[in-house]
Amino acid sequence: MSNSLHPSPFPADTFYFASHEPTALCANQALARMRDQGLQPVPQNFELWYAYYAQSNLDVVRTIDALGVGAHLLTDQRCDAIHQEFLSNAREGEVARQASATIQATIDGFSSRLAQAKTATGNYRGALEEAARTLSHTDNVVAMRTTLQSVLDSTGDMIAHNQRLAAELERSAQAMKELEGEFERVRKQSLTDALTALPNRKAFDAELERLWQDASEQGAAFCMLMVDIDHFKVFNDTYGHLVGDEVLRIVARTLKEGLAAGEMAARYGGEEFAVLLPGRDLQAGLVKANALRTQVHNMLLTRRATGEKIGRVTVSGGVAQCCVPESAQTLVARADSALYEAKKNGRNRIASAAA
Ligand code: GH3
Ligand code: MG
Ligand code: MG
Repeated sequence: MSNSLHPSPFPADTFYFASHEPTALCANQALARMRDQGLQPVPQNFELWYAYYAQSNLDVVRTIDALGVGAHLLTDQRCDAIHQEFLSNAREGEVARQASATIQATIDGFSSRLAQAKTATGNYRGALEEAARTLSHTDNVVAMRTTLQSVLDSTGDMIAHNQRLAAELERSAQAMKELEGEFERVRKQSLTDALTALPNRKAFDAELERLWQDASEQGAAFCMLMVDIDHFKVFNDTYGHLVGDEVLRIVARTLKEGLAAGEMAARYGGEEFAVLLPGRDLQAGLVKANALRTQVHNMLLTRRATGEKIGRVTVSGGVAQCCVPESAQTLVARADSALYEAKKNGRNRIASAAA
């Protein structure tokens, strides 16, 4: 659904920046790419394609290049997913900056309200003291009545002032609460893969780091499994990228449903998933990996729209047990090499990495 559904907002012969500076070249390439693919002319898409042509974010480059010719079918939605995964830190920063401005304004508001309240309280105390003095020196009923009336007036003013203050403080507290919610939403979004709703690579890296710490401090065993869908390019070429996306979601769900509490499956990138299996040595990791692989293999896929049977997908995997003091990156590299072995030996299988 690329070109035909989105009439291009760019005139075909637009020349964007009349300069051969590298920056302008990348900007031109980004704009031309957006135009050619019928992508929405929004800053987010521009940022993504600029990062791609300027090669300023290697994850973006790798992800788009991994799509091969399929990259020409990148829709706004998929661009958004890639942007969210690799470039949304910038957006988090923007939310943080805005939040900080709101918090500052709220604190300033608090301070000035409190200063006003202090003045109002001081005035009120002055009025009461004045009334007490007057009352102690007079037995004139009229004067007493006038004084009491002025005390009542001041009290009324004070009550109204306090009510305004309470309402304003309530509004500020509410604004702070909303900010807190927004922070949480952005934090969750930055750790989630938009297509599959699995934790993304960033979330995976954080969890891997945590398990690695446990392993090095307490000797807790854990395995990681790298999973890659077999011949997925052919699948995409045969059924199209939208069906491919659906399969990615199904594989993601199957992996997730096959895991116990404490285990994590993440989308590592493209058609690759990474699984963390705490408490398992290599043998137990291999058993679990094969169970997951079999669950994917046993699924008979059907196109939701047409009911057409589209057979099966299989996955290959490489499992490795963490051997501290090796680094987390070394563990990932060993799982990757094992995955390569599994592919080389015929796919739809799991290979394990030697320690
Ligand atoms: P192998 O068995 O060796 O892994 O073969 P393969 O075809 O799966 O591997 P290759 O690396 O050649 O191709 C990966 C394919 O995955 C190409 C790309 O179009 C597809 N792909 C990556 N990310 C996505 C995505 O988000 N959606 C869809 N539909 N396809 C994707
Ligand atoms: Mg792959
Ligand atoms: Mg593959």
